[in-house]
Amino acid sequence: MSSTVYHISPHSKSFTYENGLQGKFEQFLRDFEIDKYIVKDETVPLKIHLGGKGAFRTIRPQFVRQVVRAVKSIPAKPFVTDSVRIPAYDYLEVAKEAGYNHLTLDAPVVIADGMYGKESLKSRAGELIGDVYIASALHEAKSMVVLTHVKGHIQAVLGGAIKNISMGGVSNESHHGDWHEGRGKMHFLMGDIMEWDQEKCILCYDCMKVCPAECITFPNNIYTVDKDKCWRCGRCARVCPEDAIHVPVTHEKFMKAVAEGANAVTSTFEPKRIIYINFLTEMQPECDCMPIAENPVAQDQGILISDDPVAIDTATLDILSEVESLPGSRAEGIKKKHGWDIFSLLHQKDGRLQVMEAEKIGLGSMNYTIEKVD
Ligand code: SF4
Ligand code: SF4
Repeated sequence: MSSTVYHISPHSKSFTYENGLQGKFEQFLRDFEIDKYIVKDETVPLKIHLGGKGAFRTIRPQFVRQVVRAVKSIPAKPFVTDSVRIPAYDYLEVAKEAGYNHLTLDAPVVIADGMYGKESLKSRAGELIGDVYIASALHEAKSMVVLTHVKGHIQAVLGGAIKNISMGGVSNESHHGDWHEGRGKMHFLMGDIMEWDQEKCILCYDCMKVCPAECITFPNNIYTVDKDKCWRCGRCARVCPEDAIHVPVTHEKFMKAVAEGANAVTSTFEPKRIIYINFLTEMQPECDCMPIAENPVAQDQGILISDDPVAIDTATLDILSEVESLPGSRAEGIKKKHGWDIFSLLHQKDGRLQVMEAEKIGLGSMNYTIEKVD
């Protein structure tokens, strides 16, 4: 079966609001029959990644507000949400600074798994990771809009819709405070702590600076993690410039775990109750949780919309297989290779494995038809 993916072009035929990306997105939302998906009068999570401090290349608040207003017009009650990525209080402060707050968005911004990242409910993910706890604000919802800023990711390769609902929908911890039942499980399938290579370490302490749980120390210059405090987020490994830290999981297992995490979140909804919107804008090489905004690796490619997370991420990868790398970015000089998207080339891993695993477990279809919105 083929799914439909709408593609709003970033190009403008003239210098009028209607012909710009924002104007076209507004018109699209008016025409789209969003009320077919969203349950009237109910609260509706708009799942987003709010970004880290310094990561200013996220979805611009103007676009989020357009979705808020479209959902309100049904009528329904939208709220903008993500789970704990750094302590919730700090995350809300960062979000406010980035322009994500009730006043600018016209909807409340809430942390989906609560102030301590433990408000979560059990859901079945799949054979590899079993049961996980997902953020209660998503678990309890009847319909949802997933807004994804497309970017690269050292581990997942593509930060698309699947990764957004998986890593951002599975709670930081279970309500028992156990990382084995939360997001950390996806990163640590083959061990319970990072592997550190002392020979490679240059003692730059970047890992320590980026750790959200503040649980890394270097007594006698030895990388030491407080196992009880560690969230198993893997961020320390991702920032290490010398590749001295490794999370205990293979690429293949991680991709399957990401797909299963997405399944745990979507399976609590009735079919056709989730809309996915991918923003192929300001696409940086690493995740928005990093405290930086790197130069985009390719020119903006517009906005994709679908009710199928596999189709929308496959279309994203296909578009990113055709782009030229931008000078001055981390992808500068990378040559196109047939069937390889720019993030797979950059991170030297196969990003398509993520959508293949997702299709295998029935999350959606890699077979899609593009409907262009110029
Ligand atoms: S980021 Fe890597 S190189 Fe730097 S201190 Fe940590 S382990 Fe060592
Ligand atoms: S995985 Fe690394 S960055 Fe994350 S909490 Fe544990 S030590 Fe800190």
